[in-house]
Amino acid sequence: MVATSILMLVLTLSGCLNGDGETEPLDSADLGVPEAGAGVDGFDWTGLNASYPYDALTQYCLDAGNCTYWDGQFHQGTVYELDTTVLDAVVLPVPAAEPVSATTAAGMATSAWSLVETYAADWFVDAWELNTYVVGQDVPSADAVSDPEIIVLSESGQRSTSIGLNAEQVACSVTDGLPTEAQSAAFVPGSLATRVYPVHEHDGMAIFAAECITGGFRCLALNFSGALGGNNDLYDLVAHEVGHCLGLSHVGDALDFNARFVPVADIMAYADNPSRVSCASNLNARVMEGIYAELAGQERPAWMDAVDHMGMDPWEYETVDCPLPPPGILARQTT
Ligand SMILES: [Zn+2]
Repeated sequence: MVATSILMLVLTLSGCLNGDGETEPLDSADLGVPEAGAGVDGFDWTGLNASYPYDALTQYCLDAGNCTYWDGQFHQGTVYELDTTVLDAVVLPVPAAEPVSATTAAGMATSAWSLVETYAADWFVDAWELNTYVVGQDVPSADAVSDPEIIVLSESGQRSTSIGLNAEQVACSVTDGLPTEAQSAAFVPGSLATRVYPVHEHDGMAIFAAECITGGFRCLALNFSGALGGNNDLYDLVAHEVGHCLGLSHVGDALDFNARFVPVADIMAYADNPSRVSCASNLNARVMEGIYAELAGQERPAWMDAVDHMGMDPWEYETVDCPLPPPGILARQTT
């Protein structure tokens, strides 16, 4: 049942991102747990162990022709170029049945990205900093108020705001909410940003990022359905969005690129397991080291230029265990 709903979710989301309507959603096949040394299709999985948090290794991309990576590794790439190693994230109150616990969950999902340092190089731990401020619970710094790099904004139910506005308008003209009508009316394309990223939207979330003339990189993560599914769903949704805002791409099951093998428990995967919340992995840490290397005075790693995505052997893969958010009303009803 759980496997079925995961598959359904994967197929639904794949279809959702598939804007041109031409690529068929990918089916998945369970390869089972490889025996030590037995190999799967020529790959030697010796050493794959409990550090990989799912029982089964799932093959997502089934034929080499449709697969960006037809190898035995996990992959992840980048979506944004950041301009600072010190990031302020402002989490706005979540309109939910239990707003305090939902807002706490959204704050936890954001600040949990600091745990990526568990796997990061010393220079990254020294240079990189994520300060999370939950409006109504924390007192933000002056910097965070005037120039937040990341804003997490939640709506309950259908997406009702920001339709018709582009990423430049949304990301660059907000500090404490969406742009006012007057701001939108006065908007001249190109007046607010030097670089505008495409809006990234799927699964009840939309991410608007731009290099704003005032304030530099800014990313607004709009979540418009997560509060409806309970706090674990909300947590995973917000953590996934914030992962994008930190510069991370998906991990090969979202049709932005396709990998034969996918770390399905990764927070940047499309697959979802409602029994747990997903948290930063060492794959995320390697990619973030690439994103922030030059900003921290380090050499840009070769994979950033040579190939589009970082590769990692599955048996190297690990994730942090995150604390669960407080249960919400919906979470209690379903357990
Ligand atoms: Zn995504």
